[in-house]
Order: sequence, then structure tokens, then C-alpha cells
Amino acid sequence: MLDCVIIGGGPAGLNAALIMGRAGRQTILFDEDKPRNRVTQESHGFITQDGIKPSEFKKRARTDVGKYPSVSIKEERVETVEQTGRVFRIQTKGGAEYVAKKVLLATGLQDILPEIPGIQNVYGTSVFSCPFCDGWEMRGQALAVIAENERAFHMGKLLSNWSRDVMVFTNGYRVPNEDKAILARQDVVVVEEKVAALRSNGGQLTSIQLQTGQEIEREAGIVMTGLVQSAPFAEQLGCELTPNGGIKVDSFGRTTVEGVYACGDTSLSTPSQLVIAAAEGNKAAAGVIMDLVETAFLLP
Ligand SMILES: Cc1cc2nc3c(=O)[nH]c(=O)nc-3n(C[C@H](O)[C@H](O)[C@H](O)COP(=O)(O)OP(=O)(O)OC[C@H]3O[C@@H](n4cnc5c(N)ncnc54)[C@H](O)[C@@H]3O)c2cc1C
Repeated sequence: MLDCVIIGGGPAGLNAALIMGRAGRQTILFDEDKPRNRVTQESHGFITQDGIKPSEFKKRARTDVGKYPSVSIKEERVETVEQTGRVFRIQTKGGAEYVAKKVLLATGLQDILPEIPGIQNVYGTSVFSCPFCDGWEMRGQALAVIAENERAFHMGKLLSNWSRDVMVFTNGYRVPNEDKAILARQDVVVVEEKVAALRSNGGQLTSIQLQTGQEIEREAGIVMTGLVQSAPFAEQLGCELTPNGGIKVDSFGRTTVEGVYACGDTSLSTPSQLVIAAAEGNKAAAGVIMDLVETAFLLP
């Protein structure tokens, strides 16, 4: 029987796998290889790895994990996870079944983009989801925030850190007048008209066309996306979720179901970053190992 199955091979799952390997624990990591940041060419903000290509990051991480013989990585989607007594049965898309003492969910999130024509052409090249990740590259430019709800206010303020020319496009959502007045103190402009399309050239945003026919030049920006869990396992296993849909965990990644752990973006805490996901993977693996060790000391 496996000590642990890790589902998801982003920074969270891979760092967890590294720690499991360094404890000599029998572990398989399954990864479908559809990470949240797959649309980007560079990742920023991870010390020693700043500017790295996401695929190169993953390659290096897999090389690190590959040094430890008790861990193997399988590029396969997990379809089901079922608890039977104190163990977990994991079935893959290919139909193979594995049994493990612990399951670590590192399945990440997926972004849901607003339904605005042209947005797919710029997402990940000049329009991103987080200024801590990509704000530096767009500093000083004519920036757009695309946000269709109350988060427009927060992101309008935040993005003003990187440029003095920020316009918030709400696509019909009405920003309260008092919030507009606060944004205006730092010259952040709110445009509430419906957006017809984003215009771009080779992935570079050039303008935002409104349904009124007006076209406003913009060079880059941030879009507030919807966020959904990539996998349904936490809910299926009965793990408690946070009010915003994240998996509730303690500081060692333990969910509310014994034997099930979670790390990385799945907790839906902000900001979501590679370095934070990796750190959470590290801690969750430590939680798994400590719990396995404790069990060995229990009286039969
Ligand atoms: C456009 C964009 C740009 C970003 N830029 C940066 C940046 O510059 N710097 C930064 O620090 N962060 C950046 N991020 C955030 C970063 O991508 C996430 O915080 C990070 O990827 C979270 O890591 P994770 O391991 O939790 O999840 P992920 O990296 O999303 O990995 C989850 C993995 O689990 C796999 N998986 C899911 N379900 C299954 C299943 N059923 N079976 C098998 N495998 C499964 C997925 O295929 C995926 O490979 C960016 C995000 C976006 C959207």
C-alpha cells in the first residue's frame, strides 16, 4: 500500500513530493499537466526563479523529485478518490487503481474569463490576473482593469501602484459613487459602459471597444477572473470548504477529513503564487509524514 497519493503536479504537489521523497515514503504523484498559469511565458516573484518559463520550472522540479526513489510521477488524470475505512482508493483515467493511506490534493484552480470577445487573445500575454505576478512588466503603461463586480474597486486601487494611468472597465456593473470618488483621488477612472470587445495585435492589447462605439486605447491590464476548483475530490470526500470555495486546512494542510490533505491554490487564499503554493506543499507533506509517524506509535 502507498503511503500517499498526491494529485496535482504544480509547485504545490511537486514540493510535497520532494518532501515525501526525502522522508523515503512510498508516494505517487499524478498530474494531468494543465496548470493554472499555462497561458503565460514567464513566472515572476519566486526568488532564484524570477522570470522562469512555467514549463522549465516544472522540468527542474521534476528533476529534483526524481532523485528520490520512493516517489514516482505519473502523467495521468485521476478520475475518482474513494475512502474505504482508513484507506483511499484512487482510480485513474486509464482505469488503474491504487490504494493509499493518505491523499494530498494539489489540484489547483482554473480561471473563468468574462465573456468578452477578444479576451482570450490577450490573456497571459498582456492581460493577466495578478499585479504581484505581472505588474512590473506593465509598469507605467496605459492600463485596464476588467472587473465586473465589487472587486473593481480593490483592483483599481491596487493597480495604481504600477501606473498613473489606470482605467477600470466594469462591463455594466455600477461602482458606488463613494468608491468612484476614492478612486478619483489617484486619477483612477471608472468606465461602466458595456464592453463590446478587446482589440489586440499579436497578444498585445491595443484598445477596448465599448458598446457605445467608443474605443479607448489601453496597452495592458488585469482581469478579475472567476475561480473554480480544478477537481471535485474535496467535496466528494466530505471536506469542509471555506465560504469562498477554498478547501479548509490547518497549518499542515490537514482538511477536516482525516487522511485527506490539501495545499496550493486549492485553499483559495490570496495572493496565489508559485512560491506560496510550493511552501504549502512542503508543509502539507510534513503534515502527512508526521501523521504517518504518529500512527506507527499507536497501540494496536
Ligand atoms: C495568467 C497567470 C499568470 C500567473 N503568473 C504567476 C507568476 O508570474 N508568479 C507566480 O508566483 N504565480 C503566478 N500565477 C499563479 C500560479 O499559477 C498559481 O498560484 C500556481 O500555479 C498554483 O500552484 P498549484 O500547484 O496549487 O496549482 P497548479 O499549478 O494549477 O497545478 C495543479 C496541477 O494539478 C493538475 N490536476 C488537476 N486535477 C487533476 C486530476 N484530477 N488528476 C491529475 N492532475 C490534476 C493540473 O493539471 C495541474 O497540473 C499566475 C496565474 C495565472 C492564471
